[in-house]
Amino acid sequence: MATASLSIDLDALAANWRALDAASAPGVETGATVKASGYGLGIAPVARTLARAGARRFFVALAEEGAELRDILGPGPEIYVYSGHMPGDAEPIAGRDLIPLLNSLDQMVRHFEALPDHPFGVQLDSGMNRLGMEPAEWAAVAEIALPRRPRLLQSHLACADTPAHSANASQLKTFCQITEGMDIPRSLAATGGVLLGGDYHFELTRPGIGLYGGAPFTQAQPVAHLSIPVIQTRELAPGESVGYGCTWMAEAPTRIATLAAGYADGIIRAMGNRAVLHHGSTPCPLRGRVSMDLLTVDITHLDDAPESLDLLGAHQSIDGIAEAAGTIGYEILTALGARYSRHYLGGEK
Ligand SMILES: *Cc1c(COP(=O)(O)O)cnc(C)c1O
Repeated sequence: MATASLSIDLDALAANWRALDAASAPGVETGATVKASGYGLGIAPVARTLARAGARRFFVALAEEGAELRDILGPGPEIYVYSGHMPGDAEPIAGRDLIPLLNSLDQMVRHFEALPDHPFGVQLDSGMNRLGMEPAEWAAVAEIALPRRPRLLQSHLACADTPAHSANASQLKTFCQITEGMDIPRSLAATGGVLLGGDYHFELTRPGIGLYGGAPFTQAQPVAHLSIPVIQTRELAPGESVGYGCTWMAEAPTRIATLAAGYADGIIRAMGNRAVLHHGSTPCPLRGRVSMDLLTVDITHLDDAPESLDLLGAHQSIDGIAEAAGTIGYEILTALGARYSRHYLGGEK
């Protein structure tokens, strides 16, 4: 079989959630961000495992994702929707008991008119200028919103992965100013915010990437393991080149293995001539361009032709491989393709 194998370690996922939970005080609740199908790793096993580990509040990007998650989790856990209440969302919000994080006056009006008694939260912009009500807008509508008891007042940090960045303290200050004394649970921290320390935790944190083994949670256990079968090996003489565009040329006798995965599987083309794969702990450099379905890798230094090589796992994190592609671990995970044979280890399938 030439299908590459993606193993997802659900016990590592649960351990990462517990470690991030332990990073905040016992009175602080730790939620879980599971948008984009659990950062590409599969919403059902990811959400069930996190619920089993103790997560009671889940966060998704879209109402449709929330509806799918409700069917997986059943009644009980709260499911928040970052994109708020968009036109057409009343049915999933009401039918699947979702909590929209209202981002604007328009959304607030839409929600109160369509579902006057249905729970909601409010997303506030504290300086990222991406999503949420501006402080002035919030000041104007807080009087209408607060008597309806929002479940959560939330904002998001732009630079939490850079602890020394001045935007962190500035956003914290703004968030405190616009939510002070309202006696509603608050949330500011995603993974980076959890690691910034207690000032950033408020009543609830909502980490995503750290659960799945990514920076800035450098202590995280790796969750995704990707192993790609070798289809063929060949010997190159000095002067011969490999792959489209002949972008890599052998300077010495070289053994090249051709592997069964490519950019159609989320192995980003910019990794060509830059990434390494591993045989056990031995790095093997990618040579030439990434094709749609194939990779060419230098195995000259290995004693035997391996059956497969690892792209992700104990010896290479999602952030390590991301660097070779000029991207971030988040994009590596969410790009993982549909052709892999997926195996879930441990946890709650
Ligand atoms: C994606 C997202 C999160 C989770 O962020 P991580 O960096 O993955 O921990 C939290 N809050 C909001 C608003 C998000 O969009």
